[in-house]
Amino acid sequence: MLNVDLHCHSTASDGALSPEEMATIAKTNNVDIWSLTDHDVLSGQEAAMSKAKEYGINFITGVEISTVWGGRTLHIVGLNFDHNNELILKGLEGIRKGRATRARDIASRFDSIGITGTFEGAMRYADKEENLSRTHFARHLVNTGVCSQMQEVFDRYLTVGKPAYVAGNWATLEEAVTWITESGGIAVIVHPGRYKYTTEEYVNLFNEFKDLGGRAIEVVTGSHFPSQYEEYAFVAKKYGFLASCGSDYHGLEKNSMMLGEVPPLPKGLDPVWEHF
Ligand code: AMP
Ligand code: MN
Ligand code: MN
Ligand code: MN
Repeated sequence: MLNVDLHCHSTASDGALSPEEMATIAKTNNVDIWSLTDHDVLSGQEAAMSKAKEYGINFITGVEISTVWGGRTLHIVGLNFDHNNELILKGLEGIRKGRATRARDIASRFDSIGITGTFEGAMRYADKEENLSRTHFARHLVNTGVCSQMQEVFDRYLTVGKPAYVAGNWATLEEAVTWITESGGIAVIVHPGRYKYTTEEYVNLFNEFKDLGGRAIEVVTGSHFPSQYEEYAFVAKKYGFLASCGSDYHGLEKNSMMLGEVPPLPKGLDPVWEHF
């Protein structure tokens, strides 16, 4: 059986390891088909691709696009697209501009509750301002002893309703799916079980995504509880979605599921990688 991991992050976005280091883990763990899906950025693709080639791993281009749908953040992964396509490059650039300003806003919120220096602190873990994410702030607060774990930073400060939460200026679902499909790729709703939509909203989301040309959902992922694998296998069959899987590995500190150690898909699904 093939070892497939189509969702993970490097230092190009909010992962802790470089694209090359990620490729090396993929090799060590015998990954056959691998995609690096950094948030809103393609700068790690070439390095990942060439290292994967050296290792004989089948590399699939990837990206995880931040969108807002139904008033909540929704992540759409693009797989197997042309990473030099102007439309997707320009679209992602727009999202990243918003990340830089949002990071300043997050830092001023921390300032106002007496936790200073967080912008500079977060920047120590990011390659550019435009790639700053909540993860970088969380890493800084753990490493300076304000919190003991990443999860605690999110729970106390960085989630909706908490003092340092600032909504992102993300793409629409339509934009993300269009960028992916126009550049030749397959759009995937990732970790569908993580959003707090109502049952009715989920139905609307799946239908709208399908109408826009979205083709797949992530069924098995480190961002799902194992009990959700069967739940989303059922959804995939019901809506005729292809099934994807990926660890969502972010590097050493957050290893709920290791790169290349993704459990098999439930039976009876149509794997997305058979359509690349
Ligand atoms: P951002 O795109 O800047 O809003 O940051 C979102 C990232 O933060 C996600 O991709 C996760 O890597 C991380 N994240 C979000 N929620 C949590 C959480 N509750 N605990 C730990 N990490 C989280
Ligand atoms: Mn992330
Ligand atoms: Mn995500
Ligand atoms: Mn992810």
